[in-house]
Amino acid sequence: MRFSDTNASPEVLKVLAGMVDSGKIPHAIMFSEPDGGPAFSVALAFLQYLYCQARTGGDSCGTCPACNRIGKLIHPDVHFVFPTTSPQTSSALMPRFRELVQESPRFTEAELGVALGIDSKSSMIAVAEAREVLSQLALSALEGGWRSIVIYLPEKMNQETANRLLKAIEEPEPLTQFILITHAPEKVLQTISSRCLRLQLGAEAKAPDFDSPELLDDLMDALLRKDLYAALEAGDRISSLPSRESAKAFCKFASDAMRNLFLRQQGVDLPQTGSGNAEAWAARARKTFPRAAVACFDRAYRLVERNVNAKIIFTDMVNRLYSII
Ligand SMILES: [Zn+2]
Repeated sequence: MRFSDTNASPEVLKVLAGMVDSGKIPHAIMFSEPDGGPAFSVALAFLQYLYCQARTGGDSCGTCPACNRIGKLIHPDVHFVFPTTSPQTSSALMPRFRELVQESPRFTEAELGVALGIDSKSSMIAVAEAREVLSQLALSALEGGWRSIVIYLPEKMNQETANRLLKAIEEPEPLTQFILITHAPEKVLQTISSRCLRLQLGAEAKAPDFDSPELLDDLMDALLRKDLYAALEAGDRISSLPSRESAKAFCKFASDAMRNLFLRQQGVDLPQTGSGNAEAWAARARKTFPRAAVACFDRAYRLVERNVNAKIIFTDMVNRLYSII
């Protein structure tokens, strides 16, 4: 994951790269974001930049061994903690966590619950996690450089976990980096959050409401009927949206709708505000479709941002979707 793959605001990315470039890195950074935001991608991109052996133009190279291992979540000195249900711990669930991140780096809390096979509402970061973190920090870095701990949803730590971790966060060993990602900063224990540099993510990337949802309905309908001609026609109408902003809003709306479709297929209750017609599509779409479709819509979003010709982007997008439905 490089900074340029994150869809986060250039200002924030510049701040993060600047910390590494100047060597003035706060030992604990806490990102706040709405559920499903870019913080996990940004955390990975930041770590990749920190560890990269061939940084270039304010970004990681994306190909050196360090970049490669961080991108795959297999770097021996980068550890991940996320809420689970007892007696499972994050390290035991890492294979499933990796799979989720590879498929959908902007995963939501509900998607994490599905991926881990747990009820995300009752999950927490229990004291066993703190013990694991502390024992990892007691070892020296296997590769001799930075050791990093990414804590996803610190608001799900109980008091005992927080107490155990506090000293490590407060007075970290040299070359130790904590990254926290929260969706509810007001619920993170004050003793922890006050030790972190706080950065807000995602609010600026929030797409405007998309006011032509029938474009997605028509596209999905054509795809599900396996009518390529009608699907391309729908793609044409999407590429004729009046501005880059509205094309991006469509991609965001469609990507969210595919997440809803995925959750609906998994039998997860959807919030009332969910976008798209998940209920109607769930029975007809293949189980592998929603994930791959999220990637298609997110890719289209990035290409729109890079000013690629809209007709080319959306024709290609429709062809990709048609091949996976
Ligand atoms: Zn690299």
